[in-house]
Amino acid sequence: MIPFEKKELDGTEDKAVIVHPDMGLLGQNALEYRLEEAIGLALAIGLETTSARYFKVRAPKAGTLFGSGQVDQIKTILAQEDANILIVDGTLTAIQQRNLEEYIKVKVIDRTGLILEIFGARAATAEGRLQVELAHLDYQAGRLVRSWTHLERQRGGFGFLGGPGETQIESDRRMIRDRMAKLRKELSHLRKTRTLHRSRRQKAPWPVIALVGYTNAGKSTLFNRLTGADVFAEDLLFATLDPTMRQFSLPGYDKAIISDTVGFVSDLPTQLVAAFRATLEEVTAADVIIHVRDVSHASSDAQAHDVEQILLELGVEMAEGEGTPIIEAWNKIDLIDLDDPDGIRLPQHLPDNVCLISAATGQGIDELVEMVSVNLSHNHDTETIKLPLSDGKRLAWLHENGRVMESEQEDSDVKLTVQMSHRNWGRYHAL
Ligand code: GDP
Repeated sequence: MIPFEKKELDGTEDKAVIVHPDMGLLGQNALEYRLEEAIGLALAIGLETTSARYFKVRAPKAGTLFGSGQVDQIKTILAQEDANILIVDGTLTAIQQRNLEEYIKVKVIDRTGLILEIFGARAATAEGRLQVELAHLDYQAGRLVRSWTHLERQRGGFGFLGGPGETQIESDRRMIRDRMAKLRKELSHLRKTRTLHRSRRQKAPWPVIALVGYTNAGKSTLFNRLTGADVFAEDLLFATLDPTMRQFSLPGYDKAIISDTVGFVSDLPTQLVAAFRATLEEVTAADVIIHVRDVSHASSDAQAHDVEQILLELGVEMAEGEGTPIIEAWNKIDLIDLDDPDGIRLPQHLPDNVCLISAATGQGIDELVEMVSVNLSHNHDTETIKLPLSDGKRLAWLHENGRVMESEQEDSDVKLTVQMSHRNWGRYHAL
């Protein structure tokens, strides 16, 4: 992984004002949660937020989204706070973005643009970078080409203000189309290679455990704790973009693979979910999913809901007893003071699939690992089979692919009790 340099704020960075268009769909708590999240997202690309607020938008204006009085107000706020970037925590059409930029005379980015910037800064593998660039271009293609695009960076900085002329736009459009075609080709090549890797891995009997969770929930920290690896963890959003796979030891299994995935955010734009589908496929291919939750966070339930929405979109079966088992690791319990009457409360009876942990202190990790083993074995069957001792090929296959729990010799035969995944039993019987 390429370490993402945490930007230390030194007062010289761009200053942003965040405004959220309140369409009346979110309650007070949810609104505050969104603003807080947006501040975190801005920080992740080194933007200092001078203020964040929401404006009631009863009837979205086609040209500017916000009403004209509100736009004036926003302009005044930016001037007062000496901010040079406006972040609209919502979706802007190309026209709205352009009009706002022209009127307020600052760079304007919407939520999708912001998330793309972050993904771009965090993409660690070649595939991740290509996916981000493709999603970025796709986003740009629909709008006039302005500021902060990869193309402009290549052109040597275009400046935030002032629009390109029509010819410029036309040639930019063509450049974008060409570049997108090239990226798609590169991506499909990379994907072929990756599928090859995956099918090779699937032949191995190792169970795959995927970590999912809201950004900052503690996935990287847990990943490190489980694997002893020094994967970079930091208190910023999106420390991981591409799934990172590592081996770790799981009782009852020879080996297991754990994969750390992208951090989720609320309301991830659908076009981005689509763009990252390939990367997130690892999640759908997992034998067990560990959903890491920061239960010390006041919005823990809302975050969990967001993560579940994305899992559903990815096609993960969420109904109990069906599909991939999902374990919830309620993390950061070291931060919870259960005696504090005003503090976070945990339910008296935890659901069966919940394990309380602290990835930081190691508390509850053994129980979590045990729970993973048990859930894996639910997906497994135990069968007893009798084979002639001379059938070295089958014996070796079973030892390699299954967990041989008992083996008893009877004359020239051997009786084996083997635990194996349904998938491997299917393969064995086809052998
Ligand atoms: P990720 O975005 O889900 O990968 O989250 P990270 O693993 O990067 O963790 C985010 C922040 O939470 C980091 O500052 C971690 O040190 C911190 N953190 C993670 N787990 C715990 C925990 O169990 N207790 C406490 N106190 N902090 C934690």
